[in-house]
Amino acid sequence: MQFISTRGGMTPLPYSETLLEGLATDGGLAVPEELPHVDAGTLASWRRLSYPELATEVLGLFATDIPREDLARMTAAAYADFPADVVPLRPIDGGLTLVGLSEGPTLAFKDMAMQFLGQVMEYVLERKDGVLNIVGATSGDTGSAAEHALRGKERVAVFMLSPQGRMSAFQRAQMYSLADENVHNIAIEGVFDDCQNLVKALAGDVPFKRTWSLGAVNSINLARITAQVVYYFWAWLRATDAMGPTEVSFTVPSGNFGNILSGFWAKRMGLPVRRLVLAANENNVLDEFFRTGVYRPRSAADTLATSSPSMDISKASNLERFIYAVVGRDASRVVDLWADLDRQGFFDLSAEQPRFESEFGIVSGTSTHADRLETIKAVHDATGEIIDPHTADGVRIAREHVEDGVPMLVLETAKPQKFAETIAEAIGVELDYSPELQEMLRAPQHVTELPDDEQALRAFIEANALR
Ligand SMILES: *Cc1c(COP(=O)(O)O)cnc(C)c1O
Repeated sequence: MQFISTRGGMTPLPYSETLLEGLATDGGLAVPEELPHVDAGTLASWRRLSYPELATEVLGLFATDIPREDLARMTAAAYADFPADVVPLRPIDGGLTLVGLSEGPTLAFKDMAMQFLGQVMEYVLERKDGVLNIVGATSGDTGSAAEHALRGKERVAVFMLSPQGRMSAFQRAQMYSLADENVHNIAIEGVFDDCQNLVKALAGDVPFKRTWSLGAVNSINLARITAQVVYYFWAWLRATDAMGPTEVSFTVPSGNFGNILSGFWAKRMGLPVRRLVLAANENNVLDEFFRTGVYRPRSAADTLATSSPSMDISKASNLERFIYAVVGRDASRVVDLWADLDRQGFFDLSAEQPRFESEFGIVSGTSTHADRLETIKAVHDATGEIIDPHTADGVRIAREHVEDGVPMLVLETAKPQKFAETIAEAIGVELDYSPELQEMLRAPQHVTELPDDEQALRAFIEANALR
């Protein structure tokens, strides 16, 4: 299988050559030339597989340039430190089922893809005898998932910028407690957007990027999207085990449109998915888009800081891959729409909007701080379960879209321990931390403070990069 760009200007590449890249060379995003199809017989034959075995089957459809046995070794290693079932399903009230995607080292769903990416990245670099210096910006979950996936790897170093004093104590500890030589935490005097701008400035300097082998692991990374496709198949197989091949719906707490895009690909590959329900928080650019067909990203200044912070995103970097499907894979229309966006700050697909639900199965809703608190409390009262604020946004919107006879699966995107303040506000419970988490919170922290200054960052990378 080969991968092409949503903007039509990239020579087709095999899987392993797309995964060290961020944007395609023409500014678009890598997509499969054609999505693989999984027929009902194949699907049925996957019922007894373990999670890593299923991951090998699903990822093998995309990574056709990687031998099966190598892929099997990498998926086994990626999920070795998870519980035996890797992604447990558990019912809650109202007929909903939570899909547990947060059993990895950083207690959020980003581990699911990042742990695999760490394996496959090391593998590809070994084959090419290369090294890579990952430079990224984080406001929380992505940075820690990347660091925990790449720590100790010989051919990769991580330079992760975070805004000084703007992360929770838990998030800081999760990143800064790592003492691995290849992990560099950099606290920038500024906000998240300042960090992001520094990363963009370096990524835009092609000679510097080449000289220092800079790379990215952001949410548009193709390996991440494909690794996330696996758990939609897994959840469907588990949820329908007793009832056979019926349709289910998924609700996905969303920000950058990465997680739900993987569900969309799974559906297009033949998985019997009825609806994909997009749950947004107050930063509801995507809800607006799915209701009206008009996509109008907001500025950083117009992005609110909410109690589901990992969804505080007003420009959904993966949406372009969905738009590509909407316009019938016509790259020139994608180019035109993004030109509209640059010129006027929005694009208008309202003529196509009815198809978002009828043809693609996507519906959406917005959840607020009050909804989140109420939902955490309602689930706790009914079941004793404590759900995190992002999952609560999902549960809240899922309840509006439950249909008779269609199982509704809600993706649990984080564990509540990461967001203890909001849990205390919702139900008055101070969460207990496991002994491992207590140790992490007490551990010495490793972080370099830098001013919001490109030259200072360049100098730090030159002094610490792998060559
Ligand atoms: C990243 C994240 C999201 C949003 O996922 P996208 O792929 O960006 O849509 C939701 N919840 C949590 C906890 C996250 O870390």
